[in-house]
Amino acid sequence: MLRQESLDEIWDGRRYGLNDMVRADSGGCKNCSKCCETMTDTIILGPLDIFRIEKKLNKSFEELLDGCIKLNMHDGVILPSVASNEKGCVFLSGEKRCTIHDSRPDFCRLFPLGRLYENGSYSYILQFGQCPKSCSKVKVKKWIDTPEYEKNREYILAWHGLIRRVGELVVQLDDESRQKSLLMGLIQVFYGESYGENTDFYTEFAARVEQFEKNITDII
Ligand code: SF4
Ligand code: SF4
Repeated sequence: MLRQESLDEIWDGRRYGLNDMVRADSGGCKNCSKCCETMTDTIILGPLDIFRIEKKLNKSFEELLDGCIKLNMHDGVILPSVASNEKGCVFLSGEKRCTIHDSRPDFCRLFPLGRLYENGSYSYILQFGQCPKSCSKVKVKKWIDTPEYEKNREYILAWHGLIRRVGELVVQLDDESRQKSLLMGLIQVFYGESYGENTDFYTEFAARVEQFEKNITDII
């Protein structure tokens, strides 16, 4: 997941694997909240992000839509992103700290790293010029702070592939009502229905992919 700038503007061409060292450690972001203040609609939220934030704030997706998140069109697909106010991200406190740090979105977990998707897989890249700190070296695995990494990786790839496919299908469908069914069906299946507090996210996500595949078949 990357910001909207073109890749050339933020990437030096290096790809990083899980066990590589990378200059991404911003040292606890002392006295800085620049990226949280300047983000706009770029923090797109996947189903796992919403699952975590719902749990953290004890709010449903509907309730989050009332001020915490919003729906936007991204590459032809409607997806939720973090909402902002005059101070930046709505989750930024008056002391300029993240109020949902342990449940922060995937985008924030990685930053200033991002993912580069290629050939059905992905590697990590460092987005230069995005963080003003002189970052120290850290192992990618440690920086991204992602439990159950293999399951997470499968989910990330499945979700990325699905979103791309939905975007392509929307372009192919020439019927507005079917386009709407597809787009709103995606929101309903993956976000609208709560995953429940004690659910194993990855198992439930896989079941929803199956369900959504049936929806796609019915729609196209
Ligand atoms: S810009 Fe860098 S140092 Fe500042 S809050 Fe973001 S990651 Fe931390
Ligand atoms: S969710 Fe937290 S880490 Fe991410 S932009 Fe908002 S305040 Fe910053």
